[in-house]
Amino acid sequence: MKIHEFQAKEILASYNVPIQRGYVVSDVNNIEKIISKVQSDFQSNAVVVKAQIHAGGRGKGGGVKFCSTTEKASEAANEILGMNLITHQTGEAGKRVNQILITEALDIKKEFYFALMYDRSKNADVFIVSTEGGVDIEEVAEKSPEKIIKAWIKDDTYPLADAVNIVINALDLSSYKNASEIFSNIYKCYSQSDCNLLEINPLVLTEDEKIIALDAKVDIDSNALFRQEKIASYHDESEEDPLELKASEYGLNYIKLDGNVGCMVNGAGLAMATMDIVKHHGGEPANFLDVGGAANVDTIKNGFKIILSDPNVKSILINIFGGIVRCDRVANGVIQAVKELNLNVGVVVRLQGTNAKLAKEILDKSDIDLVSAETIDDAAKKAVGMVL
Ligand code: GDP
Ligand code: MN
Repeated sequence: MKIHEFQAKEILASYNVPIQRGYVVSDVNNIEKIISKVQSDFQSNAVVVKAQIHAGGRGKGGGVKFCSTTEKASEAANEILGMNLITHQTGEAGKRVNQILITEALDIKKEFYFALMYDRSKNADVFIVSTEGGVDIEEVAEKSPEKIIKAWIKDDTYPLADAVNIVINALDLSSYKNASEIFSNIYKCYSQSDCNLLEINPLVLTEDEKIIALDAKVDIDSNALFRQEKIASYHDESEEDPLELKASEYGLNYIKLDGNVGCMVNGAGLAMATMDIVKHHGGEPANFLDVGGAANVDTIKNGFKIILSDPNVKSILINIFGGIVRCDRVANGVIQAVKELNLNVGVVVRLQGTNAKLAKEILDKSDIDLVSAETIDDAAKKAVGMVL
């Protein structure tokens, strides 16, 4: 689960990690009040206005503005709050800015890239840092990969202190006494908050020699939210794809993609395999959809509704392996759904496993227009054939 910059900074601050301080505003009527509060609380005439959306690259998209005067701050805040912000991470549609963060302005001496994540290949958490901060890290990785330094934390072989030292040396911060405490605290924050990713870009050294987190991007492991009550409350529904949100209400695992072959599958593994085979036959899946192991008529119907809400969908491929779920139930669900939902796209059905024969009979007997397939390969070929 992604959270906003100001929320990530709140968590960091609770671990004594120095952050660029500020206040959030969601009501335009409070803009002037908050600007003057930031100015007086942090003794900084200049302020920074920052759009709070779950996407990076806000600066380049016009969602982060350094304002040297109160007038400029007010102008920027009024412009950014409520705007539709487009960055390289939002997609073409952009995202509406419902909240802004107004912060103290810092005089920056150096900008670093900092991240903590889990490296599966090493079975260890890893610090990733670079002296080339503030800019696109992807660009640094491509043009000068030697400027990206990694330090793994593997309790038995490389303890935290060693990794922290590597980071401090890489960023040339060894003369700053609190540096090691800061990096250890960030690690503690990352680990105790169940982060998948904790990225600070940039982490800055200010003109007055302070190390401060200027930005913060945090992704929390959703499976750990049951023990992260505070963080779970940071969930912002307005940031989610409406279809994905609806699907989760139905108990379906749905992820929207860009293609036009809708896929309804049970089991994440089979769903992935189905998408692969669709691609293999020259098609593009419109979605990932795992209806789960216990699919019934309603699940199938809801799955159809979700898939059909995507206007790009031109055919639907149903690939269900009947284990716990019986194929005849799925067949009845498909028939009901097709009858109720006024389908105007082709549907290919492949049902195998428990009661597959019965399911085929039910489908054959029904008067609805379905294409049946025996194998996953055949099914994918037929579904792709309908859209090419
Ligand atoms: P992003 O574009 O979404 O990554 O948003 P950031 O929070 O990283 O802000 C973008 C850029 O704005 C930073 O990389 C800085 O260069 C600049 N910026 C943000 N806050 C300050 C500040 O207090 N002082 C100065 N000089 N620049 C700032
Ligand atoms: Mn940033």
